Amino acid sequence: TLFRSNITTTWQYNVELTLKGHTYPERVYILGAHHDAINWDNPMVNAPGADDNGSGVAAVLEIARVLAKFHYIPESTIRFVTFSAEELGLIGAYHYAKNAHESETNIVMMLNSDMISNCPVGEDEWIVQLHTYPNSQHVTDLAKEITTRFTELDFVETDRYSNATDSYPFFDFGYPAIFFHENIFSPNYHSGQDLVVNTNKHYAAEIIRIPLGMLIKENKYGFPVKTMDFNTLNEASKAFPNPFDKKATISFTVEKPAHVHISIFNAEGTMVEVVDQAFFQTGQHAITWDSKDNNPGLYFCRILTNTSEQFITLIKQH
Ligand SMILES: [Zn+2]
Repeated sequence: TLFRSNITTTWQYNVELTLKGHTYPERVYILGAHHDAINWDNPMVNAPGADDNGSGVAAVLEIARVLAKFHYIPESTIRFVTFSAEELGLIGAYHYAKNAHESETNIVMMLNSDMISNCPVGEDEWIVQLHTYPNSQHVTDLAKEITTRFTELDFVETDRYSNATDSYPFFDFGYPAIFFHENIFSPNYHSGQDLVVNTNKHYAAEIIRIPLGMLIKENKYGFPVKTMDFNTLNEASKAFPNPFDKKATISFTVEKPAHVHISIFNAEGTMVEVVDQAFFQTGQHAITWDSKDNNPGLYFCRILTNTSEQFITLIKQH
């Protein structure tokens, strides 16, 4: 979307990518972050903005990358949006939320990351701030659940900066929202020293698991998609139980006898195990993946033949 205003007299872009929902395409989840940066030391020089808010933009891009890599098809629509002109007063997000409201868009949840990479302390002390909104109890509860089950982070719940970032306009128009934020405020805030070298990427990656997990939990575990020819595997591939604790059974149906390769990938896209590779006759088959000492979190099972490929999303809980 393109817009300008009294303050931003130049044309500004909100950048948006839509992943259309399989079952409820009219229900919309927004994964957002602002992409503009500012330098208060001197507005005429570079504003590197690595933490504020390259880190939040990285959250949006990385989640889009992971979901695309595994051909994840959500139940409802997910929009990946980076907003402009946040630093001048949440202008891009206000423009977006106002348009959504006027067009009666059904936004069920807005997940906003802003400054999520400053963390000079050891992993045992990693804390994420969950900035909450009074209309958003379900979102808050979901964020707390995912943080506890799928990350190494502790959390603190606050609304201290809730009105100072792009989730606020969505709340203002009545949409449920949450804002993820580092617990130790960056000393390089709005300065020329807000550089990548001063960020903690591992801490940021841990925070990024929260909106990813929330989107997966809310949108079911995805719908199998076939990316090649459709004639070997039946559509009904699934895993159960899901989420699982240690072992998950993967069921698939072969429509023509075929060599089938079944493997597991983690959320980073690395193959962690080949569960089976064998010749299967026509009919339904089930194999069990013992996840052993793999960490809790998100996994993808790939079922591959020479003419079909399917992915099933798996969630391992503690
Ligand atoms: Zn910011």
